[in-house]
Amino acid sequence: MADDQVFIFDTTLRDGEQSPGCSMNLEEKLRMARQLERLGVDVIEAGFPIASVGDFEAVQKIAGSLERVTVAALCRAVAPDIKRAWEAIRSAHHSRLHTFIATSDIHLVHKLRKSRTQVLHDTHEAVAYARSLCNEVEFSCEDASRSDIGFLCEVVEAAIAAGARVINLPDTVGYSVPAEYGAMFHQVRERVRGIGNVVLSAHCHNDLGLAVANSLAAVANGARQVECTINGIGERAGNAALEEFVMLAKTRGEQLGIRTGVVSEEILKSSRLLSTLTGMMVQRNKAIVGANAFAHEAGIHQDGVLKSAITYEIMTPQSVGIKYSTLVLGKHSGRHALKQRFADLGYTLSPEELDRAYTEFCAIADQKKEVFDEELVAILEDRSKSTVELYHLEHLHVSTGTQIRPTATVELRKADALFVDSATGDGPVDAAYRAIERITGVMGKMTEYAVKSVSFGHDTIGEVFVRVDFDGVLFNGRAVSTDVITGSVKAYLEALNRAQNSMRRKGEQASAVVEAGA
Ligand SMILES: [Zn+2]
Repeated sequence: MADDQVFIFDTTLRDGEQSPGCSMNLEEKLRMARQLERLGVDVIEAGFPIASVGDFEAVQKIAGSLERVTVAALCRAVAPDIKRAWEAIRSAHHSRLHTFIATSDIHLVHKLRKSRTQVLHDTHEAVAYARSLCNEVEFSCEDASRSDIGFLCEVVEAAIAAGARVINLPDTVGYSVPAEYGAMFHQVRERVRGIGNVVLSAHCHNDLGLAVANSLAAVANGARQVECTINGIGERAGNAALEEFVMLAKTRGEQLGIRTGVVSEEILKSSRLLSTLTGMMVQRNKAIVGANAFAHEAGIHQDGVLKSAITYEIMTPQSVGIKYSTLVLGKHSGRHALKQRFADLGYTLSPEELDRAYTEFCAIADQKKEVFDEELVAILEDRSKSTVELYHLEHLHVSTGTQIRPTATVELRKADALFVDSATGDGPVDAAYRAIERITGVMGKMTEYAVKSVSFGHDTIGEVFVRVDFDGVLFNGRAVSTDVITGSVKAYLEALNRAQNSMRRKGEQASAVVEAGA
């Protein structure tokens, strides 16, 4: 291993998935994990197996399905947690147990109710037990950035003595600043015996917007693993964004003396897939993956790029996987052309997927002249979602205008039965939602509603994101359509279907109340 390589530990499926509205089902997690492997991350933290049966099964499935990447599972520093985590990952080609305990006095007093001596003891026991099961053990000092440095060093030394290979020092609450966070790594390297034999790791939260800056400070002080998530999702303000750190290393790596093994061309695809699976939209001005990140080029593909590239561009759009083409598909493009275009965009479709995508493509090509690449990808992602569709939209009719009361008639199919109802509302979307409520009897409270255009031009297809509160739990929904009202109804139905599926699953899972810090 070269000294300048920083390992990328992706925790999208664990820390990221823990954030409200980001939960994924097993099938969705597996799809994301496969994409993360293509992206070339070094470690995928697949979940927290003791948290629920669903989490356990997802981790186990991922562990058994991936080949090149190391699959990690999180566990508290107690034997039953560690054992359960090991059962979930033991079939992986490369496995890692990731155990943690809090080291700050704030956590010791208010959460663990343990003395420092007890924590030291637990650390040693947990790591030694984990090592008896798994060759690769990572140990995290939760809330390290608010811990007493002397005690932190003692704990780290105990973990190394017990066999930990990776030591992670998280800024769990996103409180640290770069100079301070970097100094902590410097101190630990100076003071801890055996530190040269382990990989030091940073794990930063973005509460003050410093997650990536803090990660970089850690790396400047010897850390060689960065824990991060796609699109920076995660609890509260999220985690360090993978795409930002990776492109930082790629763009400034020479000066910084670092590099990663990530295939940066897979970044955009990973970002889009996560958005689709969770319904969590990426803000337009988000670094690297936001719609505006390379916007000085949108729509002026060839000419503009050549003129402005050196002037304004520190990275190329191609380096994150944005592909421009002059070839535009339309109504008369056949199935083969569509398949070829998807292949050019990096998507290999099964015959069934191609069939579905083609049907959708034809419907859209009927309504607009040209179908752009971004729209093709949106179609594909829309059709390959794995939410079980309890309610399916069969028919929608709205009448609205400046002088009339907006009215919607909605027909839904549930299994083989059709239901139809009408309602009025403040606008056509509101009316349609009320009609759905009348049919399903399920009341949802809309907390977020956003529409964005997938491509450019007035006839582009719209992507609708909704976030709905069902019984105090938030669910996201997303849909694409040439018609915004239809898209809105489909997005709402997706959120509703997710809520219904989740309610069904809840009965099957005996969930333990667990606080996953790290
Ligand atoms: Zn975290």
